[in-house]
Amino acid sequence: MTKRYQHFINGRWHKPSDGAYFESTNPATLEVLYEAARGNAADVDSAVAAAREAFENPAWRDLSQTRRGHLMRRLGDLIADNAEEMALAETQDNGKLLREMRGQMAGVPEYLYYYGGLADKIQGDQIPTSSHLVLNYTMREPLGVVGAITPWNSPMTLTTSKLAPALASGNTIVIKPSEHTSANILRLAELATEAGFPDGVVNVVTGFGTEVGAPLADHSGLAKISFTGSTGTGQAIATSAASRFIGSTLELGGKSPNIVFDDANVGNAAMGVIAGVFAAAGQTCIAGSRVFAHKAVYDELLEKVSRRAESIVIGDPLDDRTELGPLAFESQCEKVASYVDLGVQEGATVATGGRRPDVELPGYFYSPTVLTDVNNDMRVVKEEIFGPVTAVIPFETEEELVGMANDSIYGLAAGVWTNSLSRGHRIARQLDAGTVWLNMYRAMSPMSPRQGFKASGVGVEHGIESIKDYTRLKSVWVNT
Ligand code: NAD
Repeated sequence: MTKRYQHFINGRWHKPSDGAYFESTNPATLEVLYEAARGNAADVDSAVAAAREAFENPAWRDLSQTRRGHLMRRLGDLIADNAEEMALAETQDNGKLLREMRGQMAGVPEYLYYYGGLADKIQGDQIPTSSHLVLNYTMREPLGVVGAITPWNSPMTLTTSKLAPALASGNTIVIKPSEHTSANILRLAELATEAGFPDGVVNVVTGFGTEVGAPLADHSGLAKISFTGSTGTGQAIATSAASRFIGSTLELGGKSPNIVFDDANVGNAAMGVIAGVFAAAGQTCIAGSRVFAHKAVYDELLEKVSRRAESIVIGDPLDDRTELGPLAFESQCEKVASYVDLGVQEGATVATGGRRPDVELPGYFYSPTVLTDVNNDMRVVKEEIFGPVTAVIPFETEEELVGMANDSIYGLAAGVWTNSLSRGHRIARQLDAGTVWLNMYRAMSPMSPRQGFKASGVGVEHGIESIKDYTRLKSVWVNT
């Protein structure tokens, strides 16, 4: 019999209010993995009410910041103890390679350790005002109930990026995971209870965007909304949050440039281009999906990238030899194929890929694809494809390169490959991107702040800075 998950609200499993469930499917094998509760506005109400009650409950409100940190570290340890099981669950849910998920899952506890360590360092200041007869100090207070809406591509990492600073700051949380990846986020809430978090501090309502995400984002009981997903959904959420004067942290889409200069080590750059866009079958917000190559190295780079792309082993994400797994669901695969068709209609040439490969499994596989003869006016270069597709564009001068790289609504990340230190820093300064990697790509740490520029986001995730987004500042004046 298919396994069934209910919502996790107020420290226990909670039946969906109208008894509805939906199926979650393995994108490699197309087998049904489990059913999850199909939530609605009434379930969201229950979860927000539980989180509100927990926020006001002395068991959480009056817990010392040091104890909060202990609980977070214990949760980190429990995730580490269950990392293998959780890596497998994530691979089965979204098709990403098991060996990649093992690496990612090993990093998830780090968020809880890092923010657990910060929990008792969240403090105010004493402010020197113009009069010595007055004492003025500030307090950093939690906000209340935080709503977190997350996508399917790295569910545990992206959810923990929100949960950890929210809890360290003393908030409670209601999480709405992607409908494609519910299992691990429910397990996360279960482990939070096992770690000793009071009931109602961590709640999860599963289901679809319009049925659970929208009522959560619009809920009057929220003090903040934190969202990771597409720019279109983020815009609707930001509008709703602004109308209620609550803050929003938005981590949105990208179309990141990966730039190779003529003085770069082209072999290393080619590997960086490959890892930059084909990891996770291109389903990462930071995918380097626009490659800019200096004219002097364009042919060599294209040859190296295309040759390596053709040798990528596509198949079962559980197999250690596999280098590229399936896309996460059918419409995602159709979207990628239709973008490549569109590119060809726009005049692009398919240097390699551009088809569904022969794979023994029936899932949603698509070949690593490199497009050439493209320019910044084409939709394949402007829009986020979120699949294993990159476009390679030649450039001649730094000025021309910076103009083309910044000619995008997005500003999430960028890679620069050069052996010139001064050029690397000069270009990093000029790029409209929240993260810039020099002679590397894709590095990330809970300690290092991440911010999307332009349509790639609002607010900071990771690092000490993000605590500001999960707290409010109170100024107290005392007549001495
Ligand atoms: P999506 O916007 O379709 O969905 C994200 C989440 O929002 C899901 O839980 C979904 O159910 C929910 N949702 C959908 N419609 C909603 C609505 N109207 N109201 C409230 N919630 C709603 O995005 P996706 O396809 O799941 O994820 C891929 C996108 O996420 C890509 O654009 C990618 O670039 C972006 N992303 C960004 C980052 C980052 O850090 N910047 C990280 C990962 C993914």
